[in-house]
Amino acid sequence: MAARILEGRVFAQKFKEDAGTKAAELKEKYGIAPGLAVIIVGENPASQVYVRNKHKSCEELGIYSEVISMPEDTTKEALLEKIDALNGDSKIHGILVQLPLPKQIAADEPEILNRIDPAKDVDGFHPVNVGRLVTGEDALVPCTPAGCIRMLELADIPMDGKHAVVIGRSNIVGKPMFHLLLSKNATVTVCHSHTANLAEITREADILVAAIGKPNFVTADMVKPGAAVIDVGINRIAPKKLVGDVDFEQVKEVAGAITPVPGGVGLLTVAMLMQNVVKAMEMQMKR
Ligand code: NAD
Repeated sequence: MAARILEGRVFAQKFKEDAGTKAAELKEKYGIAPGLAVIIVGENPASQVYVRNKHKSCEELGIYSEVISMPEDTTKEALLEKIDALNGDSKIHGILVQLPLPKQIAADEPEILNRIDPAKDVDGFHPVNVGRLVTGEDALVPCTPAGCIRMLELADIPMDGKHAVVIGRSNIVGKPMFHLLLSKNATVTVCHSHTANLAEITREADILVAAIGKPNFVTADMVKPGAAVIDVGINRIAPKKLVGDVDFEQVKEVAGAITPVPGGVGLLTVAMLMQNVVKAMEMQMKR
């Protein structure tokens, strides 16, 4: 039997509705809407599209939004100064610096991201938030893995006591996914580019998360019948053709549930960011 398709737009819509409702409640209670500032340095066309989408989502949901465009040749000092100003700006509850940064400051990325007040770090990249996630405290969590977990919950796919296998160990997806699945009482295995006998491990997974960045890498023989397969990968294989890390056509015949690419996890990230902005304001108002 073919798998249940987990459509990203259905879940993204729900995340956005929840964020919009909470944003309105916060505005009512405190007289100010949650606010997001996005800093974009340079003119990377893909980054400009991402930033526009974030701004549009904020407008739809009654979240105040500022886009700060800085020139390609921006220095580290100028960027840090801007972050400091936003850290002290009471209209702004969430700050993010759109990546990648231009080459003259690319190596300074950790210092730049760590300058964001952890309470406003809606990307969840600051070591304080990473530490809170690891120790199980309330944290701002990276949007893509947080969105995947919320989707599993809303789709009634059980995690407690299940074996989850994550392929990929990046700071943005793989590692936070590990901690989030663990916090849901899954037994979690993380695989990566040095893992031996990968297919043997993935075939044991009740929940299989692919965050690799290799087109159609996960094939049907790597999937346990009935497993939930979450494809985080976004790979452009032709100017207008995106595919995931999972061979969707093959794997949907084996899996119990699967996210498509495009139209799956990719749609959850911005919607989850909206939830993080609202959450950041709630946390700041309780301080
Ligand atoms: P990354 O390059 O930082 O990490 C890739 C991981 O895959 C590494 O940990 C590596 O060990 C592992 N890997 C590579 N080759 C492997 C192999 N042969 N066997 C097993 N593991 C292997 O990438 P990332 O930032 O985690 O992103 C992964 C994918 O997810 C990319 O396609 C990216 O575009 C996509 N992504 C999507 C979203 C979204 O919004 N949907 C967000 C972030 C990333």
